[in-house]
Amino acid sequence: MIELDQVTKKYSDKTLALDDISIHIKKGEFVSIVGHSGAGKSTLLKMINAEDRPTLGKVLFESTDVHKLGRHDILLYRRKIGTVFQDGRLLANRNAYENIAFAMEAAGRYDHDIEADVPEILKLVGLEDKIWNFPHEMSGGERQRVAIARAIINQPELIIADEPTGNLDPINTGEIISILKKINDLGTTVILTTHNKGVVDSLGKRVITLESGRIIRDEKEGRYSI
Ligand code: ADP
Repeated sequence: MIELDQVTKKYSDKTLALDDISIHIKKGEFVSIVGHSGAGKSTLLKMINAEDRPTLGKVLFESTDVHKLGRHDILLYRRKIGTVFQDGRLLANRNAYENIAFAMEAAGRYDHDIEADVPEILKLVGLEDKIWNFPHEMSGGERQRVAIARAIINQPELIIADEPTGNLDPINTGEIISILKKINDLGTTVILTTHNKGVVDSLGKRVITLESGRIIRDEKEGRYSI
């Protein structure tokens, strides 16, 4: 599904953020990218969602070079990806229902779909009783669950979760990871980044470790593959 082929990213100040990275991610995989702060995790995600371009190398999504897409096609491409950030980025003046409905409206979905799907998706993330709560009326973990619901509501092919548990305690972290696992079990490919390897150790899924922009380990279900 996604192929990074010898991707190198050097920023204009000469920082080498990614150094000759090659990764192949299959449809339906759950891949965790771990590494200390500054290892290159966010840069890697930016290469995948075409927010920034590699200095060298290619990123293919279903065999299409995403950095050769025109403006319009980039927008269509990004619709295939749902993103969750560390800070959730919910709209503060809208409740849980409205935050998710807003993403559906932006994608041109009909009102009757919105009315049917929003309660369903909130149920999937265990928040049916917080449907009318505003972000300031929810805990950090609950806000992240709304952010995940919003990311999956338009049925993207890929979920990118960039440090989604960075601000959470261990119990909420466990809940967020198990929701991502459930979404993956339902067929969506997931890429998760974290600086805390403990978060992904129990998952039994592929873990790629980055250090100074290089892959130092690629473990498939706990086994080393390189
Ligand atoms: P991580 O997400 O693992 O913390 P990043 O991808 O954010 O790592 O950063 C990798 C390296 O690239 C770091 O040295 C960081 O300082 C540098 N970096 C990130 N973004 C930029 C930028 N826009 N310009 C220059 N250097 C950057």
